[in-house]
Amino acid sequence: MKRTLATLFLASSLILTACDTSDAEYDTDEQSEPVEDSSGETSEGQADMNEHSNEDSDDEEDVSIDEPEESSYLYEVNENDIATIQVIEGEEANERVALLTYDDAPDNYAVDIAEVLVEHDAPAIFFVNGMFIESEEGQEMLREIHEMGFAIGNHTHTHQSLPSLSEDEQTEEIMKTSDLIEEIIGERPRFFRAPFGQNTDHVKELVREDGMVLMNWTYGYDWESGYMEAEPLANIMVNTELLRPGANLLMHDRRWTLEATSQIIEGLRENDYELVDPDLIRSATPEQSESEETD
Ligand SMILES: [Zn+2]
Repeated sequence: MKRTLATLFLASSLILTACDTSDAEYDTDEQSEPVEDSSGETSEGQADMNEHSNEDSDDEEDVSIDEPEESSYLYEVNENDIATIQVIEGEEANERVALLTYDDAPDNYAVDIAEVLVEHDAPAIFFVNGMFIESEEGQEMLREIHEMGFAIGNHTHTHQSLPSLSEDEQTEEIMKTSDLIEEIIGERPRFFRAPFGQNTDHVKELVREDGMVLMNWTYGYDWESGYMEAEPLANIMVNTELLRPGANLLMHDRRWTLEATSQIIEGLRENDYELVDPDLIRSATPEQSESEETD
């Protein structure tokens, strides 16, 4: 049955082996669901929403999204697919958003990618592998990315399939990375993404206890043959039917991804997507973490 599931995911570009090519035979129950709704609607109906940037926004906006306070989260990760970014019930915010994320950072191109993002005033999350920030060089890259204002996520220490590890090892993979990140930038990461999107109950609990937001992704292509060049990659990232409001875009620290970044940002904005600021995203289950404080 797992094979069947895996095949389904393959068919819909939600490939388990997002970050390398090892076999995926693990429990896939938490994998992002394939998207059956393929209506590529890009009506102009919502085109008047502001493009969120750090510049002054139009006066119609009554919510200050430039300076989020503790209680001013506007978005959350859908808890069913652990990927889609949705407006928190009762909040007023643009639903037509997309989230940019870069995994396996900072390796070779993350700082360059961050610089391109800054040029475009585009927010994003960089998911960091702890093993990349053990060196002075890696630490300096992380510092630069953080200082440019980007959200930092935890992508485990050595990028193994977490379900194949003992609970102690899972803890080590996650906590070691958060501790290291905190040592370097002075704060713990607020986002967590498991290698291959493979989470366990233990991982979910740890992530919640440490105050992180768990997220997989909606789609990504930069590890697939045929998309390891800027042009086809930028094209599919913007024109795939999987792009819909709340899409969580997975990319990596790769050369072609760097080269495609400008085009991806511009293409999303041309399609009236606002790039969501990760600072506005809260955990999907904030009440749970509060209620567990007494345990
Ligand atoms: Zn990865």
